[in-house]
Amino acid sequence: MARYIFITGGVVSSLGKGLTSAALGALLQARGYSVRLRKMDPYLNVDPGAMSPFEHGEVFVTDDGAETDLDLGHYERFTGVAARRTDSISAGRVYLNVLERERRGGYRGSTIQVVPHVTNEIKDYLRIGADEVDFMLCEIGGTVGDIEGLPFYEAIRQFIHERPRHQSVLMHLTLLPYIAAAGELKTKPTQHSVKALQSIGLAPDVLVCRADHPIPEREREKIALFCNVSKEHVIPAYDLKSIYEAPLAYHHAGLDQAVLDAFGITPAPRPDLTQWRDVIDRLENPEGEVRVAVVGKYTQLDDAYKSIAEALTHGGIANRTRVTAEWIDSEIFEREDPAPWLERFDAILVPGGFGERGTEGKIRAARFAREHKLPYLGICLGMQMAVIEAARNVAGLTRAGSEEFEGDGKKRRFEPVIFQPAGAGADDAQGGHLRVGAYPAALADGSKAAEIYGAAMIEERHRHRYEVDIRYRELLEGHGLRFSGMSPDGQLPEIVEWRDHPWFIGVQFQPELKSKPFAPHPLFADFIRAALQTARLV
Ligand code: GLN
Repeated sequence: MARYIFITGGVVSSLGKGLTSAALGALLQARGYSVRLRKMDPYLNVDPGAMSPFEHGEVFVTDDGAETDLDLGHYERFTGVAARRTDSISAGRVYLNVLERERRGGYRGSTIQVVPHVTNEIKDYLRIGADEVDFMLCEIGGTVGDIEGLPFYEAIRQFIHERPRHQSVLMHLTLLPYIAAAGELKTKPTQHSVKALQSIGLAPDVLVCRADHPIPEREREKIALFCNVSKEHVIPAYDLKSIYEAPLAYHHAGLDQAVLDAFGITPAPRPDLTQWRDVIDRLENPEGEVRVAVVGKYTQLDDAYKSIAEALTHGGIANRTRVTAEWIDSEIFEREDPAPWLERFDAILVPGGFGERGTEGKIRAARFAREHKLPYLGICLGMQMAVIEAARNVAGLTRAGSEEFEGDGKKRRFEPVIFQPAGAGADDAQGGHLRVGAYPAALADGSKAAEIYGAAMIEERHRHRYEVDIRYRELLEGHGLRFSGMSPDGQLPEIVEWRDHPWFIGVQFQPELKSKPFAPHPLFADFIRAALQTARLV
């Protein structure tokens, strides 16, 4: 049975709980333990897949086809452990399970209550896969005191109580605000948030305190005394230049030691942090620099393309290159010539997206990359736009478009080179068919894709409703657009590439989801290598 680490937050949100959990997972791995990370979200949405990227950041897709919170992306990037459907749950999902069981008569007419029915559902969830790892790290979204969070805290309280001593540890993240007028960091909000935990029967074993000024020893002692934890278990967390410094920084601050100590594991196995030292060395000592334009729709929110931003950084790590990514709203290219914007860049990336808005601009960006021989990586919608561009401007199908952009009108606006196959994938809440999760693809011999991957068969994660229609394959290949990756049955195009272009690749899947700092995704590594070549030419 795994040991459990619960991670809660207090004072304010956005303190980096997800990152701290992920870094702790990485540190436990460095000491030889196996880990799994989980996220419990108190909001009432049933699945994060239906939430707007504008509001909630990107949807992270797992191999087994779950659309989850972006924190699972952090978990994977730091630990390399592939997340599963069961690693993310929301209060909405918990309630839905309970209510559906009630509707089926599963409770035999008894009164359904938060305690015990909802809390039992949460505890059952916590136990899933407990035999598989040494440590299960469970993060609770939001901050202590949120109304929606209560059933989760109560379930955790019971769970800890029901297990043997030293089998569960609670780690609480807080903020020490700096009050300039007093010239001091204040510990009171931390004390209050620990009190809030205590009032619902939970006591933190380890406190992680975010601060933007050094925490004096005296304040550490004060926190320890008032919050009932030992001084060594009050861990300072300062702002970092790169998120990938978190494992080393937390190790130096004593986090993993404090956690193992709280479990009574002494002496703790020594950590091997070579991998993280190498990542930091590469990030801090780049030998080159490239600028990448990311032409997309959800450009106002940093988190909307979180995994893409990270995968670009990983591509930089692979090449010892600093990558500066600039986000450009594709709608601009519907009013303005893209040339003055895009000329300044060494490569162009068009990411995934849904809906018609901004797509003509993405098509123009793809055209610019093709005509100016600039490296282009089109992901999902970005691949579909590259195919439409090829059909319209190279193969002469001037009305080429996607079925996704047809309105309800009787008259078709487009010739559907991108279409929705009947019956593929699982039904989603919006009533469409979504192809979501990991699917294999066969790579064509001698193609750039096969060369980059160094493999004939790959597996990548998908999340889309539409596909390139293979009825256009012959025409497009005749004009030089090679279909270099196909689903094993040969029906669904997975990768396209221009034959006479130094680096122009469109992929129907989302490679960024599998990239890690210590194992950069081959497509991103090679994309940055190609960008570096452009940078050296000018
Ligand atoms: N909107 C497109 C589709 O559903 C692309 C989706 C995506 O980019 N993830 O096929």
